[in-house]
Amino acid sequence: METKQFKAESKRLLDMMIHSIYSNREIFLRELISNASDAIDKIYYKALTDDSLSFDKESYYIKIEADKDSRTLTISDTGIGMTKEDLENNLGTIAKSGSLAFKKETELKDGYDIIGQFGVGFYAAFMVADEVTVMSKALGSDEAYKWQSTGADGYTIEPCEKETIGTEITLKIKENTEDESYDEYLEEYRLKAIIKKYSDFIRYPIKMNVTVQKPKENKEDEFEEITEEQTINSMVPIWKKNKKELTDEDYENFYKEKRYGFDKPLKHIHINVDGAVRYNAILFIPENMPFDYYTKEYEKGLELYSNGVLIMEKCADLLPDYFSFVKGMVDSEDLSLNISREMLQQDRQLKLIAKNINKKIASQLKSLIKDDREKYDAFYKSFGRQLKYGVYSEFGTHKDVLQDLLMFYSSMEKKMVTLKEYVSRMPEDQKYIYYAAGESNERIEKLPQTEVVADKGYEILYFTDDVDEFAIRMLQKYDEKEFRSVSSSDLGFEAEESEKDTEAESKENKDLFDYMKDVLQGKVKSVKVSKRLKSHPVCLSTEGEVSIEMEKVLNQMPD
Ligand code: ADP
Ligand code: MG
Repeated sequence: METKQFKAESKRLLDMMIHSIYSNREIFLRELISNASDAIDKIYYKALTDDSLSFDKESYYIKIEADKDSRTLTISDTGIGMTKEDLENNLGTIAKSGSLAFKKETELKDGYDIIGQFGVGFYAAFMVADEVTVMSKALGSDEAYKWQSTGADGYTIEPCEKETIGTEITLKIKENTEDESYDEYLEEYRLKAIIKKYSDFIRYPIKMNVTVQKPKENKEDEFEEITEEQTINSMVPIWKKNKKELTDEDYENFYKEKRYGFDKPLKHIHINVDGAVRYNAILFIPENMPFDYYTKEYEKGLELYSNGVLIMEKCADLLPDYFSFVKGMVDSEDLSLNISREMLQQDRQLKLIAKNINKKIASQLKSLIKDDREKYDAFYKSFGRQLKYGVYSEFGTHKDVLQDLLMFYSSMEKKMVTLKEYVSRMPEDQKYIYYAAGESNERIEKLPQTEVVADKGYEILYFTDDVDEFAIRMLQKYDEKEFRSVSSSDLGFEAEESEKDTEAESKENKDLFDYMKDVLQGKVKSVKVSKRLKSHPVCLSTEGEVSIEMEKVLNQMPD
């Protein structure tokens, strides 16, 4: 039997690919710049092993030029270039990656920075261009070649004139249509913004001619417009710099530049991991709650970079919900990306990174409790509620991480305290961790039920948030100590004679209590004598698991 090759309508395939892989048109520039950077890297790696080659950093760069009149955008590089065969093989064959082949061939272990691997990035150019022209001269070759294509109808290759080694790619930017405008890809400010967003940490300078206002010579308040060549990218990412050389201000500037928030971050966490999974991360704990934080609109996530190139603006999988307030970025070389780059395969690496990050955040928050309580108090005001939701949600599976981060107002300290602090102060005869729920600290203070516990010299935690009691019920215990509401029928220290006394008193006053129950018309289950009251004449208490406060919350919930 004969095995036949699949035939493909390459025209349609290319079209489909271009329009389905990428969610965002502007990334075409990221792809072309990444290719240019790879091409320069290849010279760099070759020079490491080839003595006849030298690599002086000054002469390697990427240049972006836009011309509105001819509607062209040119991306040129001083990289390794392509021979006629390269053009044919790498640009003429969809899903063929010369860069991947290069990585395999050279077997370089360290400094593996080459980005390309799928052999499709280049075609992203057709999202914004009608025609793409590539002029290239390969290292060690005297001839230059021109590859040209309008996308769908194939390509042509012919010899051309090009003096220097490297590649120059010219995009004929599409005309605007009724619904779509392409003009922006010829605008200086827009191109600068796209470069900054995706390619800020490309290792080689990305240059552009930029119009600037300069004061005229000898005339201070007269300005003239001049064009000067600027490097747009910052090249060395802050997360790859040595922590010791960075100041708080550097991190704050990064936070502002990245627009993670408008506040000053409370704390930064800089992580460099070089183990089973390699990654760098800079995380921030903000001070203020974003205005939409406790709404459905708020989107958690960290920026995700693969080798300095932005892949995803908000990678939600990197943060658990209870740490959704954390801002920042992660960069890793080890991620297995699929061709769209935006779509990460749900792989082990990403999960490992997420787990690792989670631990670091928790431990940093813990140390903040110890070392800078004022900051932690400010943090807790904004995000404490989220931590409590975290304890409560998913059946308390995160309680180990979260229980030490919780704080409640203390009757004794008159401020927020942790459970650890509470337990450390417990007198030996105290069995339970006591709490009282209510609308505000002032109201709880006046609750009759708190008196008898406070008189014993026991501390009471005040629960004023709807979620408090639910979260604590999920915890059940802290450090082997159970939680107990002050309105519970068993407080663990009832006076012994009381039972007989109350029985007798109840009999004596049966008529009165029956009358009271009648008057309250089914609003109470029974009226009883209590030994718990000190200065208050009566109090309400509940039977069973649900406290009065929880009942209120449950009653408010939609069925
Ligand atoms: P990838 O970058 O994933 O390999 P691309 O479609 O972006 O896929 O590029 C295909 C191939 O074309 C690259 O692997 C590389 O061999 C070659 N190429 C693209 N752009 C350039 C360039 N500017 N200089 C040299 N080679 C390039
Ligand atoms: Mg590429």
